[in-house]
Amino acid sequence: MPNLGSKSGANGGGSAASYDVVIVGAGFAGLYMLHKMRQLGFSARVFEAGDGVGGTWFWNRYPGARVDIQSLEYSYQFDEDLQQQWEWSERYAPQGELLDYANHVADRFKLWPDIQLNTRVTSAHFDEAADLWRVRTDQGDAVSATNVIMATGCLSSTNTPNFEGLSSFKGRTFHTGRWPKEPVDFTGRRVGIIGTGSSAIQSIPVIAAEAAHLTVFQRTPNYSVPAHNGPIPEEVVRKVKANYADFRAANNNTALGADWDYRADTALEHTPEERTAEYERRWAMGVLSFYGSYADLLTDPEANYTAAEFIRGKIRQIVKDPVVAEKLCPTTALGCKRICVDTGYYDTYNRPNVTLVDVNAAPIVAVTPTGLRTADAAYDFDDLIFATGFDAMTGTLMRMDIRGARGVSLKDEWAEGPKTYLGLCVAGFPNLFIIAGPGSPSVLSNMLPSIEQHVNWISQTVDHLRKQGLKRIEAKAQAQEEWVTHVNETAAPTILPTCNSWYLGANIPGKPRVFMPYLGFAPYVAKCDEVAAKGYEGFVLSAPAHAS
Ligand code: NAP
Repeated sequence: MPNLGSKSGANGGGSAASYDVVIVGAGFAGLYMLHKMRQLGFSARVFEAGDGVGGTWFWNRYPGARVDIQSLEYSYQFDEDLQQQWEWSERYAPQGELLDYANHVADRFKLWPDIQLNTRVTSAHFDEAADLWRVRTDQGDAVSATNVIMATGCLSSTNTPNFEGLSSFKGRTFHTGRWPKEPVDFTGRRVGIIGTGSSAIQSIPVIAAEAAHLTVFQRTPNYSVPAHNGPIPEEVVRKVKANYADFRAANNNTALGADWDYRADTALEHTPEERTAEYERRWAMGVLSFYGSYADLLTDPEANYTAAEFIRGKIRQIVKDPVVAEKLCPTTALGCKRICVDTGYYDTYNRPNVTLVDVNAAPIVAVTPTGLRTADAAYDFDDLIFATGFDAMTGTLMRMDIRGARGVSLKDEWAEGPKTYLGLCVAGFPNLFIIAGPGSPSVLSNMLPSIEQHVNWISQTVDHLRKQGLKRIEAKAQAQEEWVTHVNETAAPTILPTCNSWYLGANIPGKPRVFMPYLGFAPYVAKCDEVAAKGYEGFVLSAPAHAS
């Protein structure tokens, strides 16, 4: 009996049903995928590990968490009533509001009956004789499906470095990507935080305002620009909503799938004064528009240096202690890691209760019962926070036992790095789709339009197979090789692969160093459309194995 309309989702555990589609994950990708499948009349089941929907915004509840792309853009566009009626309270919505939005979508489109919460998919094996996927969960489900769609997110497997003595710490520990639901009170406490990526940069100012003392352990400084967050002026909302379709279309036609105020001229054709004026303008706008300052920012190290030096100048102006300021100044190319977005981050280092420790100079050696030890000192805390990021893009897929045709394991196939065709499909794994997989624009784009584009393409493909009386779709190995080469060739001339980022898997010891996302949302969409228009070029489509 389906659990109609309940926010607890469908009843689960031990099911042996058969579906057209199994969807793994109920984040923004899984929710829309389910909605599309149901619209098309396919039977679908979503398995979600968490006890609620929302994916990234379900798990990342750390203080200060909010989106870094304007909410009017970081939102679904598939339903005109939804985009007209939903009101964002701030320019960059906080985590709680994004979670409300995910729940609203599940309510509004009555998705709950097909979502099974608290259920982690453990394996998906392709049964060649039956031409079906056999999917198992940690709740004892053993279901079959014609198609499996991985809506598992790019940043869903957390990374906690395997420090010696990790479990010995006697205080409270937290990971920003697995933050508790209940508010955490740091009042009067001595807190240590490891990491200075986006999650740390958002949370540090909020935690510092509460804690007795906050010690930040920084290995690599990051570039951060101010969010300038606040309520969205009513006239802006009115203007966008008066013609939402055109607003979306203009954004979809860019390299990022977002309004980043891109300039087609180059930094080096301008005088230093003109460049500074432009960077000041971007600093005042805040957020990711900094990427769009000049056309050569991501391709010419000399141009990149001018923007990087501008931000270093800002850090030196804001942070009063020159030694601390210097430690905070990044030396990597601007944008080789995602530029962070903050509210008062650098200024937080002017507080008397905040200490910055450079663990590049003296690495963390061990976690101790009372804190941690670096190569040259020991620190004591009540609370220890890991803002140490994720095993990005492949981590969650690799933790499942996924086996394609002839029992080939995805772990083995990707042992030297992920290989996909269009970031969507893997040769040897028929009817397995990945939303925002490695080789797609995903994390180098506005995730919501990227997700919608993938969901639309997959839906259209599955529907096409049904209309043609076909069942199986599989990427050709050669098309996949060519796509992987193209993804690498697109990134190679840019500054993107020049530092130890998670785009390259460099944050995880032993992970193959391969540039995973594809740079260029608009050309990517055109390529996917072209592939479909040419009868699914690069794929083999076939009839059911048992068709007479
Ligand atoms: P992250 O960018 O990977 O940062 C992890 C931090 O932990 C880095 O400073 C890293 O140092 C440090 N670290 C890892 N292992 C360490 C070790 N063994 N010793 C010392 N330091 C260590 O992770 P994140 O901050 O969670 O962000 C991940 C991504 O999530 C972002 O890039 C962004 O795409 C997304 N995100 C977005 C938002 C937003 O939209 N507002 C907010 C948060 C996150 P190294 O740099 O030296 O490796």
